[in-house]
Amino acid sequence: MNRVHNFSAGPATLPLEVLEKAQDELTEYKDKGRSIMEMSHRSAEYEAIDQQAKERLTELLGLGNDFEIMFLQGGASSQFMMAPFNFLSEDETADYIDTGRWSNKAIKEAKLFGNVHRPFSSSESGYDRVPTNDELDFSDNPKYVHFTSNNTVAGTQFSTEPETNGVPLVCDASSDFLSKPIDVSKYGIIYAGAQKNVGPAGVTIVIIRKDFLAQADTDNVPTILQYQTHTEKIFNTPPVFNVYMVNLVLEWIQQKGGLSYFKKFNEEKAALLYDEVDKDDFYRGAVEKDSRSIMNATFRLPTEDLEQKFLKEAQEEHDLYTLKGHRSVGGVRASMYNACPRESVETLVNFMADFRSKNG
Ligand code: PMP
Repeated sequence: MNRVHNFSAGPATLPLEVLEKAQDELTEYKDKGRSIMEMSHRSAEYEAIDQQAKERLTELLGLGNDFEIMFLQGGASSQFMMAPFNFLSEDETADYIDTGRWSNKAIKEAKLFGNVHRPFSSSESGYDRVPTNDELDFSDNPKYVHFTSNNTVAGTQFSTEPETNGVPLVCDASSDFLSKPIDVSKYGIIYAGAQKNVGPAGVTIVIIRKDFLAQADTDNVPTILQYQTHTEKIFNTPPVFNVYMVNLVLEWIQQKGGLSYFKKFNEEKAALLYDEVDKDDFYRGAVEKDSRSIMNATFRLPTEDLEQKFLKEAQEEHDLYTLKGHRSVGGVRASMYNACPRESVETLVNFMADFRSKNG
């Protein structure tokens, strides 16, 4: 087996232990004579997986009894529509903090349902930072405040939740979900596509505070798009294999030591990388230091030609894969989610030092 150092922004690297366990159970799940993909989503086996995954999420995030958890389809992109469809009416305003490509897509959808106010935007400076609390200029009575906790393309991240004075947060946590502890009491909705930190693409995890959910519109929203539809029982066929994989990743997160473990682990990896970036002027961080993401580190080299050379050598000579920045911004992006081993970052950092000494 030759597993490369995989810095993909998503679908991203998964823990080898999880892949091996899935491989082991692929053709026959727990002596049942068939795989989990070949069983009814109403089977006792699948219902146990669904239940266990929800219990694990509750335990890891400290959700208590206050939240509903659902495994939906359509990606985080569907949540851009589903959240305002359920919670925002024509005469209401929601505040959307604009910190990048994904925030923008969320704003575009929300405008179909109600008014959108931007309390902050870093668009003019190329989304190079997230706001401080002082910079947030909220509307008078927002229904909720939406933010993208980690900006996968730019490589910025909120280090803590924006302060909204009690207005519920609706968070696109796609690219830092379960990478560190969060203060769940501040959230109305947390949603995340699984394909970065928690599993394969195809399932979206949505966590909603019960008292916020009680305010959802149940009259004008199609059944499948109402959050309530998905709370009592499994409504329609879920992506069973994906939820099974998520459950294995959650087990792995628990076994490693939970979210505090990953916070430290991820911060250490990011520090290794950013220290190398900051050593001199050869590499240049793409965003402001205070806003740097511990998940997606973005940086530039002196010229685009050198960037091409860097990416080519990284992959061909060192098995360092998928380091190319997002097509909209260029440069280099190293995505270092929970399952990215420290050894991969060390290999990258050694290559960076070597590349600088030869090309600097
Ligand atoms: N939000 C963020 C922060 C993302 O990084 C992505 C995917 N890269 C999305 C939303 C879109 O997710 P999906 O493809 O699951 O719809």
